[in-house]
Amino acid sequence: MDDLQFQLDMVRALNQQLNGKEKMYQLVCSTSQNAFLYIDFQKNTLDVLGNWKGFFDFQADTPKDMIKLLDLVDDKDKNKLQKILFLEKTGAQSKVAECHLSSTGKWLEFECTVCYDGNFPIEKVIRIRDITKFKKQNEELRYLAYYDMLTGLYNRNYFVSILSDWIREAQESGETVAVMCVDIDNFKKINDGLGLVAGDELIQAFGLFLKGFMDERIIVSHVTDDTYYIAVRNPVESHSPEKLFDAIVKRVEEPFRLMGGHEIFISVCAGVAEFPEAASNSLELINCSEIVMFRAKEHGPNSMRYFETPIFQDFIDNINIENKLKEAVNMNRFVLYYQPQYDSKSQKLRGVEALIRWQDESGKMISPGVFIPIAEKSGMIVPIGMWVLEEGIRKYAAWRENYNCNMVLSLNISAIQYKRPDFVSNLLEILEKYKVNPKDIELEITESVLIDDFEQVVSKLRTLKEYGIKISLDDFGTGYSSLSYLKGLPIDTLKIDKSFIDTVIQDESTQVITESIVSMVKKLGYETVAEGVETEEQYEYLKKIDCDNIQGFLLGKPMPAEDIAGLLRQNCATG
Ligand code: C2E
Ligand code: CA
Ligand code: CA
Repeated sequence: MDDLQFQLDMVRALNQQLNGKEKMYQLVCSTSQNAFLYIDFQKNTLDVLGNWKGFFDFQADTPKDMIKLLDLVDDKDKNKLQKILFLEKTGAQSKVAECHLSSTGKWLEFECTVCYDGNFPIEKVIRIRDITKFKKQNEELRYLAYYDMLTGLYNRNYFVSILSDWIREAQESGETVAVMCVDIDNFKKINDGLGLVAGDELIQAFGLFLKGFMDERIIVSHVTDDTYYIAVRNPVESHSPEKLFDAIVKRVEEPFRLMGGHEIFISVCAGVAEFPEAASNSLELINCSEIVMFRAKEHGPNSMRYFETPIFQDFIDNINIENKLKEAVNMNRFVLYYQPQYDSKSQKLRGVEALIRWQDESGKMISPGVFIPIAEKSGMIVPIGMWVLEEGIRKYAAWRENYNCNMVLSLNISAIQYKRPDFVSNLLEILEKYKVNPKDIELEITESVLIDDFEQVVSKLRTLKEYGIKISLDDFGTGYSSLSYLKGLPIDTLKIDKSFIDTVIQDESTQVITESIVSMVKKLGYETVAEGVETEEQYEYLKKIDCDNIQGFLLGKPMPAEDIAGLLRQNCATG
């Protein structure tokens, strides 16, 4: 009896515990944001728990009602959901699927878990969760990862990834893939003039126009400020780069209207490189198109150029020279040659012009005509120019001490070097260091120095002149060559370019120009130097028209410092 009572108490206690657990489950389910379906296979019943009403406006009473869920999700997700709802048919234990409901814009996650007894399913639970917010966040992240915020075009990474896929496919199919780099001309000026906001607006507006090209064969990306890349697979007919560029040019012939009433006209240049001709991978292809775009810019606004092997070779050569120049600076591989200048009447030595040479590893002398333009572009001209100043002045000081000669040292100064704020102080420091009188130094500048900020350039020239340093205008006749601006320029000497001297004997109009330059310059009180004088005839003519000084192969080629020492020995003995 006691035993039976005990057993009854046990059962009651267990039941109570079960009720408690069930209550707890109920509570958990009803406060959950999720909805649950519980299916008992043996009883063939379906129970709905949790936030079902928050999701659906129909009731589910039997397992068959689950079919109604299939009607709600988008077509593309129906199959997937069916597999989840009837997971027991596959024998799997659990599975998850994300489905989209276009009718409500929601994303739902269905997770099904089946319990088996041997091979027989006993019960299953389907949990339904709203993942719309999570999906949206993911989409935003995806957007950030793949798109450019300013224009909504593909960003560089996404563009490269699609382009790489296309190239991989083209490798097999034998198709062509073109990359076109499109760049707005003088964007910096527009941006500076209009301000950043309007600049951004222009970038957006032009980007929006390019976006119109996008289709299954064309993708467009925005990479930096004013540079866009377009990739075209199988670029023929309406998809050819010429056709696209025609459309672009047609568009930019019309103004872009910005907020605030601005109307802006722009021009663009484009470079095109194609796989497989130009490069074999996406990054190289993009690089090639950019290099060619810069070449197109040299042809003026609204130009487009195609990749050609020589362009690329030229570019590579430049890079090689640039690297070698850096090495040359570090290894001290530069040498100065000096070319004498003579007074045309007395034939006395007027001075020497320092001309740089680069001795490469094999001992070969490389002409400055080859490397100075590259050094200017890369900024290497600054350390190189400093070296020229110091080396030239050091040598000059030694000559002065040894031969006590009265002559001028001419030094070529690049515009970039001249514009440095520390240029004057550096030069004065070197003169001080070697105890050289500034009056013995002449700086040769070209008209390119005068472009940009004329006032500032002139004020610096005045400062130099106050110290007694002479200024010579080099290559006269090749730049603006306007005699009118010469008047206000604080210079001492004018060098008539070799191109005049070359033809002055045969060509009458060159004679007229040369003569008027010489007489005008004399009136202004400047000295004249004719450069590139190679023949007696040229020399006699120049003397006749009263050109003060002569420089050229006829009287002396550029030579190493030792040879100048020999020259000084003779000259100073007689003079
Ligand atoms: P540039 O200043 O006009 O120098 C005159 C150039 O003409 C020199 O060439 C000289 O060797 C050459 N030349 C002189 N007389 C004759 C002649 O009778 N016939 C012929 N055919 N040529 C003659 P180089 O030394 O090759 O220099 C070329 C240019 O490189 C220079 O032109 C100058 O613009 C630049 N350069 C040279 N040294 C320096 C330097 O130290 N700094 C900077 N910034 N530029 C330099
Ligand atoms: Ca010169
Ligand atoms: Ca010159």
